[in-house]
Amino acid sequence: MPSFSNSIPNETKRHGYDLRRTPPDKPLKGIITCEKLIGCYTHWWNGRTSPCEDEGCKACESNTPSRWHCYLSLLESGTHDHIIFECTAKAALPITEYQLDNPTLRGVLLTAWRPKRRRNARVEILLKPIDLSSIKIPPAPDLIQAMSVIWQLPGAALETKKNERSMTRMTTDPDILQAQRFNPADGNGQSTNKRKVKT
Ligand SMILES: [Zn+2]
Repeated sequence: MPSFSNSIPNETKRHGYDLRRTPPDKPLKGIITCEKLIGCYTHWWNGRTSPCEDEGCKACESNTPSRWHCYLSLLESGTHDHIIFECTAKAALPITEYQLDNPTLRGVLLTAWRPKRRRNARVEILLKPIDLSSIKIPPAPDLIQAMSVIWQLPGAALETKKNERSMTRMTTDPDILQAQRFNPADGNGQSTNKRKVKT
């Protein structure tokens, strides 16, 4: 049932999480809300970033280069926006090292900046545990689900598996994906709340 109102909504922001990279001119700071980072190889394919499909990946088959990126959820200082932060594998090294020594990333203050203050210049990341007694942080989003929305992957084509190292593997059914991605009625019609991805 559609829901009508006589006034414009206060909240015009779309659902989902914004993907943010480190800006060139000022540090990006925020409190990490997820327990672990997730990472994935992506391609620039058909005019947008798409995750590598691994076996049977059309982008790989056409020799399109791929890069690994790290994603984590962050409550941005100042704006209090809950965002997904993206960085390269190299920039993410301090995060993976922190993960090895500590049970969780949640509640850690992340500062990311570009010392050369240029777009695409090297990113430095500093992590610092902080006193959370006076700060309330929201629950972390389902990162895979959030990234699927950002990448416009149809929810129906998603299947996640957890392997013995407790890494979640996201696979897609290439046929469903192909059919839905190029069908305007379905392509962006995936929903974050109707379908639950098993993790
Ligand atoms: Zn690929």
